[in-house]
Amino acid sequence: MKLNLNIEPLSNWITAKSEPLLIAGPCSAETEEQLVATAHLLAKTGRVSALRAGIWKPRTRPGEFEGIGSIGLQWLMRAKEETGLPVTVEVATGKHVEEALKAGVDILWVGARSTVNPFTVQEIADALRGVDVPVMVKNPVNPDLSLWIGALERINNAGITKLAAIHRGFSSYEKTAFRNEPMWDIAINLKTIAPNLPIICDPSHISGNRDLIGYISQKALDLDMQGLMIESHIDPSVAWTDAKQQVTPAALDEIIHHLALRKPEIKNADLKDKLEDLRNNIDKIDDLVIQKMAERMQIVEQIGNYKKDNNITILQVNRWDEILQKRTNYAKALKLSTEFTERLLELIHSESIRKQTEIMNKDEAGQKAEKLTHA
Ligand code: PEP
Ligand code: MN
Repeated sequence: MKLNLNIEPLSNWITAKSEPLLIAGPCSAETEEQLVATAHLLAKTGRVSALRAGIWKPRTRPGEFEGIGSIGLQWLMRAKEETGLPVTVEVATGKHVEEALKAGVDILWVGARSTVNPFTVQEIADALRGVDVPVMVKNPVNPDLSLWIGALERINNAGITKLAAIHRGFSSYEKTAFRNEPMWDIAINLKTIAPNLPIICDPSHISGNRDLIGYISQKALDLDMQGLMIESHIDPSVAWTDAKQQVTPAALDEIIHHLALRKPEIKNADLKDKLEDLRNNIDKIDDLVIQKMAERMQIVEQIGNYKKDNNITILQVNRWDEILQKRTNYAKALKLSTEFTERLLELIHSESIRKQTEIMNKDEAGQKAEKLTHA
């Protein structure tokens, strides 16, 4: 599937001061002094292409600081005037859009808690109709690519062609080192189906912790994302929101300085040939893997028929345990990670079970239910 979005290149609406493209600023505008002073320090690094700050903050619990509100727009305009940096703000309602545009905000973004709700996104899209302003759409809180795509489509359908996605990670029940799991595959899938859609990574909200920002930023660049949005505060220790993940402008400068910029295309002909060779090898191996998978599934079918004829259950836990044990040991010896091997085997196993269930339940109702489950 390819997405049919009508999009302008990023360079039409934001000028990269340096590589990588960097949008930075505090999580929240707190006071005029905090915002303007932070903006000056960020501008001084020479690395920042736009200033971000939240003024309407969607908070998980009531009673927390919910943003300074519309007055923050004036502060943003002062920061813009004094530093020359274009400014961007999160909008979550049609009224926010109107106010931000009236004040002269250069770029708008839709937050993760808004992207989850098509009513909210549609309201924002309706307020944008007929306006030529760049909009960045964060991924939804939950790992659902369709919701992200849906939001991008709604904004694009309203006539917004200066469009980008922001990858800020996904909420997951399991607690890991990250505040929001990156689930890079989802961003890669979006890039695959919408190759001309710029994707900007937000390492701050993925990390939740300033120590991981450099690591996530590098990974995003290695995946050929088009830029970074990083939260930076003049004094993170006293920040009113997201204190743990904000960095001073000086620390931000340091993080960016250490990033390696790699190119998506190779100019050197020898290197190109070498890479071509390696890719040919990969292609051959992938073909073999698929061929072997098909052979495996044919045997699975035979086993299914045998089990059916002899009234044997599909799943035999002992056998599955044995497969898992033996294969992961073998894979480990071949330097494959256990996590990868287990995930791969589980995928193969669930497909085998699906096939056998199909064979066992030849009656129509069962087959229909199976099809629905795996749709
Ligand atoms: C933010 O950028 O400060 C913010 C609220 O982010 P998200 O919507 O990604 O949680
Ligand atoms: Mn934040």
